[in-house]
Amino acid sequence: MILGAVTPKNVGDKRTTLHPQSIKAVLDMGIKVIFESGIGLQADIPDKALLDLGAKSLSRDECLNSADVLFCSEPIEPEEINLIKKGSSIIGVLEPFSNKKQFKIHAEKGINSISMEFIPRITRAQKMDVLSSQSNLAGYVSVIESAKLLNSALPMMMTAAGTLKPARVFVIGVGVAGLQAIATAKRLGARVEAFDTRPVVEEQVKSLGAKFIKIDLGETGQTDQGYAEELSKEQIEKQKKLQADVCANSDIVITTAQLFGRPAPKLIDRKTIERMKPGSVIFDMAVESGGNVEGSVPDSLQKFNGVKVIGYRNLSSFVSDHASFALSNNLINFVMDFYDKENAQMNFDLEDEIIKSSMFVKDGKILKREFS
Ligand code: NAD
Repeated sequence: MILGAVTPKNVGDKRTTLHPQSIKAVLDMGIKVIFESGIGLQADIPDKALLDLGAKSLSRDECLNSADVLFCSEPIEPEEINLIKKGSSIIGVLEPFSNKKQFKIHAEKGINSISMEFIPRITRAQKMDVLSSQSNLAGYVSVIESAKLLNSALPMMMTAAGTLKPARVFVIGVGVAGLQAIATAKRLGARVEAFDTRPVVEEQVKSLGAKFIKIDLGETGQTDQGYAEELSKEQIEKQKKLQADVCANSDIVITTAQLFGRPAPKLIDRKTIERMKPGSVIFDMAVESGGNVEGSVPDSLQKFNGVKVIGYRNLSSFVSDHASFALSNNLINFVMDFYDKENAQMNFDLEDEIIKSSMFVKDGKILKREFS
């Protein structure tokens, strides 16, 4: 079997799906690895690092044309799908909610596709969970980038010139990214508070040494996969009102609230921003899925009454080497678990919980009606 990968077309995505530190496992299994020349350059990984391990560099078209399994960190454009051979498989970040039409083309061309966003949240699949591995790094980056924008330091410092107060950081949404944001802000010495609609995270917040803000919103819940249920309009209004005081007293507010497959909830409006101190920072981690903050614009610093509002796309690419390592490991773990060594091909058994959840197209058929 030939495993291949090409460079993402989105220039903001600096990751590679084939990291030298993770491909040895598949090479040892007898799988051949090919890659588009220059694939790791944005993460400072030279071709040589992959070539030395026995992988082969090719042109982009040759890669698309030769791979039996193609890794990707973004959907492959329709004109390039034409280059992929029938019977091969695309495994990667396919953004299914915003890119439904790709599946019809995959089915027509006889290409199988696996969307890693649909890896189920079960223990066996944690090592393949790209959403978690990238959110974790994004949470770290959100704090580092917010700290750069803040005109004061995060830790308390008792100096001869006077005592410098620690920064106050408020994290809204405590999933994978929020937990890492809390941990990073704590490590940098900030005073951290956090809120989530899922009450189960209170213990996790406390275990990181942060304070959980209690806001009674009535009934809230989570899906069987651990994702938050959407709040009613009234609940959102109540949340906005009750968290506004915490925002007003914070130097940095980091919003991470997401709803799987739906636009992010709007949680901070202009009225709340106007109550915050000039110079404070709001980091909108949901900016790519609609934004949690009124007025946030992807990759562009906005100022309202001196409050800085920022939200970057491709956050994990700010630490592109680690992001590539984690992403490559996730994908390779998937291949290792479903590789049939005897027949030198992938075994997509739809009885398997992981395949059933993540496989979108198999043998010319779209398996999920809502994406056809
Ligand atoms: P996510 O990216 O979907 O959302 C981020 C957070 O925003 C979530 O915690 C969500 O509850 C919160 N949120 C939504 N609406 C909100 C609102 N109005 N106000 C405040 N917060 C709001 O979440 P995620 O990072 O995917 O994690 C969801 C859960 O799944 C977490 O508890 C995580 O630990 C768990 N998880 C489990 C596994 C596994 O078991 N294999 C893997 C990954 C994550």
